[in-house]
Amino acid sequence: MDTYTNIIVVGAGISGLSVALHLTEISADFLLVDPTPGQGASHVAAGMLAPASEVNYDEDLMGALLRKAARYWEDFSKKVESLTNSESGYERRPTMLIATERGDLDELIRLEGYHRHLNIESHLLGRLEARDTEPTLSPKVIGGLYTPMDFQVDNRKLLKSLVELFDSRKQIFRSAVTSVSKNGKGSGWTVQTQDGNRISGQFVILCNPMDAPEELLPSSLDEKLLRFITSRAVKGDILRLRDQMDQGPKVCVRSIRNGRWNYIVPRQSHEIVVGATQEESSQRTHLSAKAGSVLDLLFDATSSIPILRELSLVEVGTGLRPGTFDNYPLVGELLPGLYIHSGHYRHGFLLAPITAAALVSSLAPEPQAQDEAILVDFSSIMSPYRFQL
Ligand SMILES: Cc1cc2nc3c(=O)[nH]c(=O)nc-3n(C[C@H](O)[C@H](O)[C@H](O)COP(=O)(O)OP(=O)(O)OC[C@H]3O[C@@H](n4cnc5c(N)ncnc54)[C@H](O)[C@@H]3O)c2cc1C
Repeated sequence: MDTYTNIIVVGAGISGLSVALHLTEISADFLLVDPTPGQGASHVAAGMLAPASEVNYDEDLMGALLRKAARYWEDFSKKVESLTNSESGYERRPTMLIATERGDLDELIRLEGYHRHLNIESHLLGRLEARDTEPTLSPKVIGGLYTPMDFQVDNRKLLKSLVELFDSRKQIFRSAVTSVSKNGKGSGWTVQTQDGNRISGQFVILCNPMDAPEELLPSSLDEKLLRFITSRAVKGDILRLRDQMDQGPKVCVRSIRNGRWNYIVPRQSHEIVVGATQEESSQRTHLSAKAGSVLDLLFDATSSIPILRELSLVEVGTGLRPGTFDNYPLVGELLPGLYIHSGHYRHGFLLAPITAAALVSSLAPEPQAQDEAILVDFSSIMSPYRFQL
């Protein structure tokens, strides 16, 4: 069967769904193509929106991008709620980083200094203040760092709302894309799907992690570029607990123990997410969590909040963070009419809404002044051609 739409969005994880939401806002004609929409890393993630806790010391520019993305979430959440008529899952619940050893506390003190340098609000807490803020903390905690602007989204609630929206509008085509090629005559692109269909359009936006781009994309793409846009996959094992009786923490708690980080993310839905390991991975399918990861995650989490020992362990998950060589996402045009919006690595939920807004604004016939300004300072560091700069 041959179908035509103006814009073909390949992949319906948070990257593709964010693009689709912004395309809806400008009343664009588009189709999402994905065999399993709302799955992938997006389904597994913890959904933290944590520009303060997750900033790295030598990444001032990334830090600025993360903060801008976090501010955009207020708007994004309202857009989701007004278009879907359901909850976005956005929770303005603060975060506390904690330490039980002197060396780890020194790390929190150092981080607070870096926050001051970047103008990020955070406050050091003594032992008692930390336990006043979160009474379920272990008495072994010796201090903390409170980050009032690090929030979260219930990722599965958000994905469900968006997938239902686009399903109800018949804008999701369930099949895998097997090739993307330039149309023979005239302009535009055609994607071939695994079930033998062809979809043609003026634009294609690739929002799927690129494992083997040379198999999917036209051979006219530069070989070095193909290598650059191949995803670096960083595996993460992650757990979900059920807190039916509301015994767990009320703030998001991130602990550091001998340099190893762990997070505990409570949700309104009584779910508590405990994560996550990080491991470079060459394996892309048949993923499973390591027994040792489950042990470490539970050890660290229950050492921070002992009551977690009483909760039910309901899920052990594993996913691949689609990364790049330099940790910045890939957002921009690869060839005329062929775009990429991927590589959001550890920050897909935090970043994809704003990077999608920027990308869609560049496609809109009349970009709005506010949208135009969104990521002007960051377009070159996110460009797929940045390695040639
Ligand atoms: C354990 C873990 C915890 C995380 N925690 C956080 C967090 O707290 N905060 C945060 O911001 N980020 C977090 N992340 C990162 C975040 O999950 C990712 O950056 C984000 O989900 C990537 O979204 P995506 O849409 O690019 O990819 P995915 O979610 O992987 O979606 C890609 C989609 O493309 C589809 N697809 C693949 N190939 C094809 C094809 N050929 N044709 C059509 N469709 C295709 C797949 O079916 C899938 O639905 C975490 C990740 C992991 C693994």
